[in-house]
Amino acid sequence: MAKDIDWGNLGFGYMKTDYRYVSEYKNGKWDDGAITADENIVLNECACVLQYAQTCFEGLKAYRTKDNKVVCFRPDLNAKRMADTAKRLEMPPFPEERFLDAVKKVVKANIEWVPPYGSGASLYIRPYMFGSNAVMGVKPATEYQFRVFVSPVGPYFKGGAKPITLRIPDFDRAAPRGTGHVKAGLNYAMSLHAIVDAHNNGFNENMYLDSKTRTKVEETGGANIIFVTKDNEIVTPKSSTILPSITRRSLMYVAEHYLGLKATEREIYAEELNDFKECALCGTAAVLSPVGKINDHGKEILLPSGMEKSGEITQKLYDTLTGIQMGRLEPPKGWIFEIN
Ligand SMILES: *Cc1c(COP(=O)(O)O)cnc(C)c1O
Repeated sequence: MAKDIDWGNLGFGYMKTDYRYVSEYKNGKWDDGAITADENIVLNECACVLQYAQTCFEGLKAYRTKDNKVVCFRPDLNAKRMADTAKRLEMPPFPEERFLDAVKKVVKANIEWVPPYGSGASLYIRPYMFGSNAVMGVKPATEYQFRVFVSPVGPYFKGGAKPITLRIPDFDRAAPRGTGHVKAGLNYAMSLHAIVDAHNNGFNENMYLDSKTRTKVEETGGANIIFVTKDNEIVTPKSSTILPSITRRSLMYVAEHYLGLKATEREIYAEELNDFKECALCGTAAVLSPVGKINDHGKEILLPSGMEKSGEITQKLYDTLTGIQMGRLEPPKGWIFEIN
């Protein structure tokens, strides 16, 4: 029985659901973990996460498919990425098979919150981890919590496929050899000023350049970027300081194997921006959002696909990927994880 919610008009926001998962790390090991109804966390005032931002997260979704199954999309890659992030932040990785089990338990416990097929909404799943004991001198915590909560969400960008405007900011996102390639909370803390400033100036998102040379395109604060060339090739930036988006990696595969398009990961220079015919942001939250315009310090680059609708290839990629997620198209082996 689904909850009585106006699924078609959900925004992208937090809604308290019935259950969440928690496991605690103490004395060098993770406990058995459990489902709880309590959404609040009580922490010591000197908890490492509060003082030194020792925290990381993941984001994925559960969908109701055409034949009414509840599934997740490639959650094994989220489990792996979270373990990689944890190691970079000197946190004990949460075992990957237990990550999958926790996701399954929380979605099952909140099954009534999974939006119906065709509503455009989905159940966003947020696994996260933080250092929980008091730490004064700068060092990693010795106690941690791994948690998973869920919240039903509508589309990330209201208005759906309406193209957005990016600007190339003067702020940097990730230092060479820093933490840009892992999903650390700190990457978001330092992006908040840049995004507020972008919004104040009438832009939807920041298109960051590489911090070292400031000549190459990287990504936005929370999404990777793909471009379509005039020859219908899909290109995406290759860099060691961008977050390896699961959506982007899946789209590159879909472009090649479902649509027969060439898909290339390579360095992309800001100077090349005029050569592309389509551009889109990709990530779990938005799936794929078309970009209509890029502002480079006052110089406007208008994508040929325009400000009215998604480019043709972007639309095909979107339809194919969401078709796979919603059970309308045959998925590649191992991409769909069944919850019930
Ligand atoms: C999470 C995230 C993405 C998107 O990754 P997905 O796995 O596709 O959801 C892209 N960039 C950044 C900086 C992110 O944190």
